[in-house]
Amino acid sequence: MGKVLIIGAGGVGTVVAHKVAANPDVFTEIMLASRTKSKCDDIARAIGGNRIRTAAVNADNVPELVKLLNDFKPELVINVALPYQDLHIMDACLEAGVNYMDTANYEPLDEAKYEYKWQWAYKEKFEKAGLTAILGCGFDPGVTSIYTAFAAKHHFDEIQYLDIVDCNAGDHHKPFATNFNPEINIREVTQKGKYWENGEWIETEPHQIHKPLNYPEIGPKESYVIYHEELESLVKNYPTLKRARFWMTFGQEYLTHLRVIQNIGMASIVPIMYNGVEIVPIQFLKAVLPNPGDLGEDYTGWTSIGCRIQGLKDGQVKSYYIYNNCSHEVAYQETGTQGVSYTTGVPAMIGAMMFMKGLWKKPGVFNVEEFDPDPFMIELNKNGLPWVEVHDGDLEL
Ligand code: NDP
Repeated sequence: MGKVLIIGAGGVGTVVAHKVAANPDVFTEIMLASRTKSKCDDIARAIGGNRIRTAAVNADNVPELVKLLNDFKPELVINVALPYQDLHIMDACLEAGVNYMDTANYEPLDEAKYEYKWQWAYKEKFEKAGLTAILGCGFDPGVTSIYTAFAAKHHFDEIQYLDIVDCNAGDHHKPFATNFNPEINIREVTQKGKYWENGEWIETEPHQIHKPLNYPEIGPKESYVIYHEELESLVKNYPTLKRARFWMTFGQEYLTHLRVIQNIGMASIVPIMYNGVEIVPIQFLKAVLPNPGDLGEDYTGWTSIGCRIQGLKDGQVKSYYIYNNCSHEVAYQETGTQGVSYTTGVPAMIGAMMFMKGLWKKPGVFNVEEFDPDPFMIELNKNGLPWVEVHDGDLEL
């Protein structure tokens, strides 16, 4: 059906490349491009079959990107580089007339703050160009937003309370490591907490609100309210929500390491001079931490991510829980990466498939919950991320 360009050869890019290559009817030609071409070559070699072409690109350099797009002429770019590149890649897509998709919203390099306003501001430009931009098509954001859309479409007349629950009960057997890009991950989890209640954002200290929640097949895990980007678009697209929160599990060891990292200044994004060279502490920290893409081999256990929703159906209060459990070991066997890269890369491939099939194709900039969730939900079951529904159970929240 069409050509696709994947940008970013990290853990998520590896999974996207595997899954895209496994669907030759939909993705007729594939190119994988990243800053370091050798990483793309390694991934292409591991997948085999000569299906994937590779290229080096600095995605912060718009003219370089435009040249690559004009040479390869893809229908769609799947951006799984870092959030800092989002706007540059969107600019290049507009210039070359190519559609766009990503899994994480734009963050300025010098400010640990992520909001959709920068990307939503491109709406008119994409509309005028007749191009589609699909934002946030990983697991969270991504599948969590699609679960919400699916619940609202099929199970509720009005959704009122949404709790997204993200548990990683896996063990990578390292004293400390992050499951995706360490810089982005640490920036995300050390910021202040924030949730939506009665029409306004409530801010908390980092990790201030927490309680044990029970996860299917896993059991109780201490879960913490943090701010997560899909809350911003979901409260906008579902104005009936009285409250929307995001919970993530953290182990005590992880939190202790995080506290020390912050206390000694290693989480800072403010550049410092070291031996005459300017370095950013958190970027240096990334260089010495385990590479998330290499954690897979020893990773055991499960991730469990879902949405717990309460609202009204036929005048009655109803509760609903929809989730996926993903095994790190199974993800590794299939793609050579751990479950967090897998749960992000599979939805990115499915979002691209929705676009290629013309099901999610309309001019403008959209969050995934603005599209029909049904065909996407069918593909989740077929592509390694099956979902489970619990009706009228105890949501614990
Ligand atoms: P990694 O750090 O493993 O990989 C990022 C890749 O992007 C690297 O290969 C890197 O370059 C490449 N890259 C970085 N800067 C540039 C640049 N300027 N030009 C070209 N390539 C560049 O990250 P992950 O794979 O773990 O994460 C990828 C994305 O997925 C991130 O944006 C992350 O926030 C998002 N994510 C989303 C989730 C969701 O559920 N929605 C969950 C987890 C992650 P190089 O080739 O030099 O290695």
